Amino acid sequence: MANPPLQPVRGTRDLIGEDFRAHHHVISAARRIMALYGYEEWATPIFESTGVFARSLGETSDVVSKEMYSFEDRGGDSITLRPENTAGICRALVSNGLTQSNLPRKVFYAGPMFRYERPQKGRYRQFHQIGAEVLGAAEPLADAEVIAAGWHILQDLGISDGVVLEINTLGDAESRDAYRAALVAHFTAHQEGLSADSRVRLEKNPMRILDSKDEGDRRIVATAPTIQPFLTEKAAAFFEAVLNHLATFGVPVRKNPRIVRGLDYYSHTAFEFVTDRLGAQGTVMAGGRYDGLVEEMGGPATPCVGWAAGVERLAMLLAATPPAPRPVAVIPVGEAQEAAALGLLQDLRRAGVVAEIAYKGNLKRRMERANKLSARAALILGEDELAQGSVQLRDLDAGSQEIIPLAEAVSRLTA
Ligand code: ATP
Ligand code: MG
Repeated sequence: MANPPLQPVRGTRDLIGEDFRAHHHVISAARRIMALYGYEEWATPIFESTGVFARSLGETSDVVSKEMYSFEDRGGDSITLRPENTAGICRALVSNGLTQSNLPRKVFYAGPMFRYERPQKGRYRQFHQIGAEVLGAAEPLADAEVIAAGWHILQDLGISDGVVLEINTLGDAESRDAYRAALVAHFTAHQEGLSADSRVRLEKNPMRILDSKDEGDRRIVATAPTIQPFLTEKAAAFFEAVLNHLATFGVPVRKNPRIVRGLDYYSHTAFEFVTDRLGAQGTVMAGGRYDGLVEEMGGPATPCVGWAAGVERLAMLLAATPPAPRPVAVIPVGEAQEAAALGLLQDLRRAGVVAEIAYKGNLKRRMERANKLSARAALILGEDELAQGSVQLRDLDAGSQEIIPLAEAVSRLTA
């Protein structure tokens, strides 16, 4: 009996046809634009020692407490499939001895991430991110520039309409200590209404409650104090400078004091690009400043800022999927013309023309195949034409045909 067909793991998707092209379009646009801003691309391993994430992202973050794909490998080491790439990039900066020279480094990455979440539209267990990190820059201009680059990508993809940059500051350590005390007072007063998770957070990391998705928590968060009155003068000035630079770069912003980000390593700037076009999964790009992470990885104090964006969510916002390239079909009328056809086929490809040949079949079959492939033109090599050094060129959209010198075929199709 035949085996039952296998299915992909829940929350994973195959990228085929249109899906792949949309995905690829997002990544190549981002890669091209980040290069304009002076970013180099890094690729770090898809799995890391669990410690790389467990400590840096914060024990009480959703990602660490519920979403990591961690396992013991055959040698007994605890390994985790990366749920995000910032920790890996910082680990790589330290492991490769790059923390002392040539800073700041601007790093771009693209690749798959893994989180054990409830799969739904725009939320998968294997998804993909593009991301940008400025490593070793404490200046507010770094924050503004990396955000402007993200905005540039959204504009280039034609999806910036209806996407809003929401921005907040988490202040410096002194601001946060004062703020934390005020939050503890507020949440303690409303303790009985908090979810079980948030009661744990109240003990371990009360700011995390601000990022809770629980309905009851959200009502209590709505009346919580904001950080603004607790900001030190320096932290407030830093935020002002970021906002001023963003205005100069022409990036529209909306201040949102509720943006805190889900991971522990952030300070100062925190931001999200959000849209209401994706239902509940409305955050397309998110990031902030993280000044303590490189130290967590065993390096020297290194101020950094960056963002990550979900490729699937960006791809869903595209108005149209880029079409597949339309080939030129090369068609030998009989076996005697096949060698000449293969020669022409390779000449076209070397000149950058997408060209196809059917592996078998008579003229009629090969024309059918050309139409199936949406060929834009056919070059038909017949016995008489070939003897005179010519070939028939059919424009498959116009339905017109002409006899042209074989030697001109490539230049006609590259024009
Ligand atoms: P969310 O609030 O939607 O869970 P998050 O705060 O967990 O997002 P980040 O860790 O900031 O997300 O990741 C950056 C971006 O990666 C998100 O804004 C989103 O576009 C994308 N992303 C995160 N998790 C997923 C997922 N499971 N599936 C698809 N995209 C995701
Ligand atoms: Mg999440």
